[in-house]
Amino acid sequence: MTSETHRQWLVADRPIGRALRAEDFRLAESPVERPGEGEVLLQTLFLSCDPAQKSWMENIASYKEPVAIGGVMPGSGAARVLESRHPGFAAGDLVHGPIGWRERPVVDGASLERVPEGVPVTASLGVLGGTGKTAYLGLVNVGKPKPGDTLVISGAAGATGSVVGQLGKLAGCRVVGIAGGAEKCAWLTEELGFDAAIDYKADKVRSRLREHCPRGIDVMWDNVGGEILNDCLARLAVGARVVICGGISRYNADPRDPEQMPPGPRNYFNVVFTGATIQGFLLPHHEREFPAAEARLLDWVRSGAIKYKEDIRDGFENAPAALMALFGGGNFGKQLVKVA
Ligand code: NAP
Repeated sequence: MTSETHRQWLVADRPIGRALRAEDFRLAESPVERPGEGEVLLQTLFLSCDPAQKSWMENIASYKEPVAIGGVMPGSGAARVLESRHPGFAAGDLVHGPIGWRERPVVDGASLERVPEGVPVTASLGVLGGTGKTAYLGLVNVGKPKPGDTLVISGAAGATGSVVGQLGKLAGCRVVGIAGGAEKCAWLTEELGFDAAIDYKADKVRSRLREHCPRGIDVMWDNVGGEILNDCLARLAVGARVVICGGISRYNADPRDPEQMPPGPRNYFNVVFTGATIQGFLLPHHEREFPAAEARLLDWVRSGAIKYKEDIRDGFENAPAALMALFGGGNFGKQLVKVA
């Protein structure tokens, strides 16, 4: 890369109905632009990898601007301001926002937020970013945990699930995590304070839930869908709240093809016997509460009440591989890419 050009990842294909592959991304080099009025030139430091980016490439996420083939790969990142023509930022400031997969992007200053003082810049993409806000607002607004409740989380050792579980402990819940592998499960119980963890790759989830949730599940946080959700629905307590945050086990199926889509959960009728509610959660719908959520999360992170793990891959060129890792559980903690 010369001083006048930078690299960017472009969307080369739409991964609908299949797993992501390397050919879905194209690395391009282009001139570094100069910022116009209200804009800033950034040096990207870290990129965030989020499962939803696959759906953005597919153009099936109704809440997101369509992405053109050949367009810049959308995504969040943290960056240092190199040059500013926005009154709110100066050269040297650390910021985060939807900057796309680019090394030195020019962006509208209004789309950026400052990285809070006294925390690592990476935290602004995970525990203090969309990940943490999803966990906090989804749990408080939809899960409505009460002391003594049993909270079960699928995808529990991931970026979002691990924060949900710790928030559940702060709320006085008994917390049971479901995750893939002994190492991830040990981290949940030994370091994060979960009461129990179920390794869905080695154990029968349904029978372990019976053992760990003798009075049923009061709050179910679902990141995965499929058989794991079905097993949890069978153990709901009266008045349970089921938060549908994600369904990563179905992200490679084509939503236009009924043959590919998994059938609805067989145990759904248990919501009748328990009077449970199943409610979806989408972070952008809760935008008005972002400042309050960020302040609470910042306090907990600064005090050490919430711990977080990051899985950082080095090198801008490795961004597609880092994103793909999410869909096979290759990440342990919030998946990030170090750019500079
Ligand atoms: P993450 O949990 O850090 O990474 C994804 C994890 O999913 C992997 O580590 C893997 O963990 C698990 N996984 C992958 N394929 C699976 C499968 N077939 N069956 C079971 N588990 C599987 O990622 P994240 O960013 O925190 O996202 C977690 C979920 O939250 C995703 O579903 C995402 O779409 C959702 N989300 C929703 C919102 C919203 O507003 N609704 C916002 C943010 C995130 P194991 O090793 O344990 O299998």
